[in-house]
Amino acid sequence: MKFYVTTPIYYVNDEPTVGHAYSTIAADVLARYHRLRGEEVLFATGTDENGLKVARSAEEKGYQPKAYVDMMADRFREEWRALSIGYDDFIQTTEERHRRAVAAFFEALHQSGDLYLGEYEGWYCVSDETYFREPELVDGRCPNPECGKKVEWLSEPAYFFRFSRYGDRLLEHIERNPEFLLPEFRKNEVISFIKGGLRDACVSRHAFWGTPLPASIPDSEGMVAYVWADALINYLTVAGYPDDEERFACYWPADVHIMAKDIFVRFHATLWPAMLMAAGLPLPRCVFAHGYWTLGGEKISKSRGQHMPRPQPVLDTIVAETGCSRASAIDALRYHMLREVPFGLDGEFSGEALLGRYANDLANDLGNLVNRVLAMVGRYRQGRLPEPCEPDTGLAEAARTAASEWERCVETLDFRTGLEAIWTFLAEANRFVDQQAPWSLAKRGDQAGLDRVLYSAAEAVRMAAVLTSPVMPNAADAIERQLGLNGWARRWSQVREWGVLPGGLPIGEVAPLFPRGEPAPKRAPARKSPEAKEKSVIAIKDFQKLDLRTGEILSAEAVPGADKLLKLVVDIGAEKRTLVAGIAPCYPPHELIGKQVVVITNLEPATIRGVRSEGMLLAGSVKGDDSSISLVTPDRPLPNGSSVT
Ligand SMILES: [Zn+2]
Repeated sequence: MKFYVTTPIYYVNDEPTVGHAYSTIAADVLARYHRLRGEEVLFATGTDENGLKVARSAEEKGYQPKAYVDMMADRFREEWRALSIGYDDFIQTTEERHRRAVAAFFEALHQSGDLYLGEYEGWYCVSDETYFREPELVDGRCPNPECGKKVEWLSEPAYFFRFSRYGDRLLEHIERNPEFLLPEFRKNEVISFIKGGLRDACVSRHAFWGTPLPASIPDSEGMVAYVWADALINYLTVAGYPDDEERFACYWPADVHIMAKDIFVRFHATLWPAMLMAAGLPLPRCVFAHGYWTLGGEKISKSRGQHMPRPQPVLDTIVAETGCSRASAIDALRYHMLREVPFGLDGEFSGEALLGRYANDLANDLGNLVNRVLAMVGRYRQGRLPEPCEPDTGLAEAARTAASEWERCVETLDFRTGLEAIWTFLAEANRFVDQQAPWSLAKRGDQAGLDRVLYSAAEAVRMAAVLTSPVMPNAADAIERQLGLNGWARRWSQVREWGVLPGGLPIGEVAPLFPRGEPAPKRAPARKSPEAKEKSVIAIKDFQKLDLRTGEILSAEAVPGADKLLKLVVDIGAEKRTLVAGIAPCYPPHELIGKQVVVITNLEPATIRGVRSEGMLLAGSVKGDDSSISLVTPDRPLPNGSSVT
């Protein structure tokens, strides 16, 4: 048995937000659940690194494109680690293995006869190097708000995929496979999109940054795979396509592609399966689109994605408000996102709702159950579990029902209903403790009765750890540690077994999982201004890592082939440094000679347009307006190499 789940590959220019985290947490929950069932799991995520905008961002920031995308991909890796997300593979589309997959896939499309050379036409913005369709233009001009320049009608040779041929086959596949597209209510949108008529899709571009088409495709010199085609193929690359046949045979087709709804209808639910059909490859079993989170009732569109909170400040707030550990805060965020809103619908992201769930579901229902049961084992049994007893029918039955409900719900990614079922079991377990009242049994000296109740309650706690572990892996680990199950190999089937806890087991140290006591001292004001929320705060020691020094520009010259860049030699006291700076729009080279500037001297060197740049100048500008660049310069002359702090 294998299980292959994917997230979309995230656009490398973005910063990871709770929106990105949503898809990734959901995939992690599925992966953890299937691993618990003993399946061979492949959970893949990654970054989308092709497309000219990426190359341009790299250049603007003074990096080589590959160095830039590697750095940005690491931000996603770090973020996922910091949310207890255990992916198996992280793909960057600039990797060599992906180039081979794209080449092989295009080769397969070519051989199918459904790839043809045509003319791509559209309104072209030279400055953005992007085509736009007529309805996208704003007053006949480039729709990029930071550009707005005149566009021109251009055409270029490009390869097209005969998408138009696949409408009927797609409709038939959707009809025959009721779980191919989920949630159910989005299916109609896809069907009407297909019935509206599919237009052939342009799958190549002329560009210098991207995955080149294979040389076997005629007249494809200088062409790269269009970003969408390139991105979708990542799912094959991860599965071992085309080189590792054994791996590919094991993992492909993917079991679930998870994504937000914006890339569902046109790409994952139609274009991608049609391309796979053309290439003669099986289709993914399920393509699932989840909804958007909104913030304060405001719809968060993709272009404004950065307005969504970043995950780490959300965790900071949970820790500050509750005094819980970081690990518990991670679990609280994971739980909240999957419990609050049915997976598939839009929902509002609210810190208050999150803290409410923390207090009720986690501190009260789960945390309280674990804590009081283990505290009583400590008090009445000197910290050792009683011997196993006959199964308590009510508890064992409630656990089996919860497990079956979760299994049924997870098939359609209905995490919310699955979690509700688990919480029904937790309520049953709490009721068991209340009704059996072990404290009264202890008072009466009914040792046998007390042992039976404590053992049964401890079994319920153990089952709760298994049931909640896909969503809350840290809490499950902590519960097992507190039960004394060190190095325990958890399995899903243990939910249905009774008497798993060994009698006489010394329990571990008992501590509240989700404390509600004294909040920890606040690191930051709880209510920040909207601006402060968007900018992440750094510590003074982070700033002190920068070695900023004054320097004098000794020479300046244009960098061939780059309008914005100048090559400068700067005297920073102890040495002379060569720098590349994007200040040509505002400074003719001769005006710069003799000017004092501020240089970051300990920046990793980068080669930009063939020139090695060993540092960076500080300059300000009005966002998006290159004609406003102004160099930062000391108010009064300072010796070269003076430190700036
Ligand atoms: Zn433009």
